[in-house]
Amino acid sequence: MKYDNANIFAKILRGEAPCIKVHEDDCTLAFMDIMPQVEGHTLVIPKEPASSLFDLSDSASLACMRAVKIVAKAVELAMGVKGSTVFQHNGKEAGQTVPHFHFHIFPGSIFNASGIKGHAVEMADPAELELVAEKIRAFIGEAAIQVHQVTKP
Ligand code: 5GP
Repeated sequence: MKYDNANIFAKILRGEAPCIKVHEDDCTLAFMDIMPQVEGHTLVIPKEPASSLFDLSDSASLACMRAVKIVAKAVELAMGVKGSTVFQHNGKEAGQTVPHFHFHIFPGSIFNASGIKGHAVEMADPAELELVAEKIRAFIGEAAIQVHQVTKP
């Protein structure tokens, strides 16, 4: 799929649009979904300009999975749940609305979450998203240890 440089995640990566960041490394960025389906709904994107899974390089795939492990664990710890759900869409036929590859992270189960909202439907209050992001950021260090991405100092 030809990459569209004008998509909103490309703008976020270029600093032309805001995001509520929870984690960043050389190859990935994680931030709050602006229309969360559940509290704690977070996105992880590669900095590489890839539209879908099929365009993503092996090195960016690895970088994404390393970041997803840390952020998903931080989301679990921050939201006080034992499990999490990670998913992504490839192509508009599959429900992809932003053509820059990304993982969605939900705390808990996608199937029996109570009060789950529609996909990309309702904008959240940025102040409330920031409060959730603060909680997630506070657990990034512990999450990295728990998923063995770093060792205890
Ligand atoms: P997709 O439908 O492509 O799998 O998911 C795109 C996600 O990006 C949706 O969950 C949607 O709520 C979210 N989203 C769309 N525009 C923005 C934005 O400007 N900022 C943030 N943080 N999330 C966005």
